[in-house]
Amino acid sequence: MTDRPANGATPWGAWLSDDPELAKLLDEEATRQRTTLQLIASENFTSPAVLAATGSILTNKYAEGYPGRRYYGGNQVIDEVEDLARQRATALFGADHANVQPHAGAVANLAVYQALLEPGDTVLAMRLDQGGHLTHGSPASITSKVWRFVSYGLTPASDDPRHPGEVIDFDQVADVARRERPKLIVAGATAYARQIEAEPFRQIADEVGARLMFDLAHPAGLVAGGAHPNPVPFADVVTFTTHKTLRGPRGGAIVCRAELAKQIDSAVFPGLQGGPLEHVVAAKAVAFAEAARPEFRDYAARVVTNARALATGLAAEGFRLVSGGTDNHLVLVDLRPFDPELTGKVAQEVLDRAGITLNRNTIPDDPRSAFVTSGLRLGTAAETTAGMGEADMGEVARLIGHALRQRDDDAELARVRAEVAALCAEHPPYPSLDAAGRS
Ligand SMILES: *Cc1c(COP(=O)(O)O)cnc(C)c1O
Repeated sequence: MTDRPANGATPWGAWLSDDPELAKLLDEEATRQRTTLQLIASENFTSPAVLAATGSILTNKYAEGYPGRRYYGGNQVIDEVEDLARQRATALFGADHANVQPHAGAVANLAVYQALLEPGDTVLAMRLDQGGHLTHGSPASITSKVWRFVSYGLTPASDDPRHPGEVIDFDQVADVARRERPKLIVAGATAYARQIEAEPFRQIADEVGARLMFDLAHPAGLVAGGAHPNPVPFADVVTFTTHKTLRGPRGGAIVCRAELAKQIDSAVFPGLQGGPLEHVVAAKAVAFAEAARPEFRDYAARVVTNARALATGLAAEGFRLVSGGTDNHLVLVDLRPFDPELTGKVAQEVLDRAGITLNRNTIPDDPRSAFVTSGLRLGTAAETTAGMGEADMGEVARLIGHALRQRDDDAELARVRAEVAALCAEHPPYPSLDAAGRS
């Protein structure tokens, strides 16, 4: 992998020499990404090739419609770009059809609802405060205003380390499905540290005559890399984001069975969107090809072993692991056993000052609001890309525990920040760009 974008542009700064205000901001953000720890579970460092495609002249082209059926002229090349992205997506996930146009994961989900449901239809999805996403029927999301959402949750936590609980309660999924007769069941989560098997969802969906959508936003890259089971053989439709573990540009995509292709495509355009972002579609094509390489299998496996090492380190610092641990890229911790007074909001702010970037998160049955929370969510996708390993994760856990214990001591937080910077300097996300002095 070369760090030099194929179009000769540096991803930040150089092409903005006429706009020093913005060039300065890009340099500041580059410094932030390079010198602080990126532990937000939904973030990653894309390759220079993905940056190059995202920054390419394909942004100039209007391409409403689909390859071979566009509303504007001049799309001969664009059609090939989008076809390449679609072919690579279907090959990567073993699907019949792909739509690579959704601008984001949220839009992909809305498109599926629009394709498969009438307003007022019932949808069964995961409870928001137990790991579900806003687009799974949050009162704040349009999804809950158009469709009727009912929910399932997790089994209770238990003290038995062999059966820690806080896993998807399939008895509850089945009970609610039989009672509510949803037209669609949504599997998938935004804050859940275990693998999600699609097969039990499929059985329940078949029993009650529902369709099954799997929202693969978080683990899409783990599926591509063989580190998480693939839901495609079991689901009618799978939505995902391309920027989380899949390590592509910011965006969404949908794969589905052949018989739903037309409905899904019409729901994305003209149902929800206008012209597609073909520069981002090209970058998705780059990312799908990268994710099909053998190195990406190693990457996905390392993301998971790093998350386990981080979880083990955090448990040793006195945090409680929600679901008792992790088998994907993320770790959800309950702060209360570490310090009952410490909220997720304060912990996030303290760690930001220490150069450790992550997000607060509700934990199951959180007594605090979603704005304050009693938990933190951490992920290893980005720093694994930068080359960190299990020993580094142990060090990260130690620094988090130390910073939070010493949170009222500015000098200690500054010391942690310096240690964080030293660790990050050993694992730069874009080493050859740095070497060329262009960042
Ligand atoms: C991130 C995420 C989304 C939304 O993706 P955006 O690109 O932020 O719109 C949808 N569903 C789940 C489960 C997610 O984690």
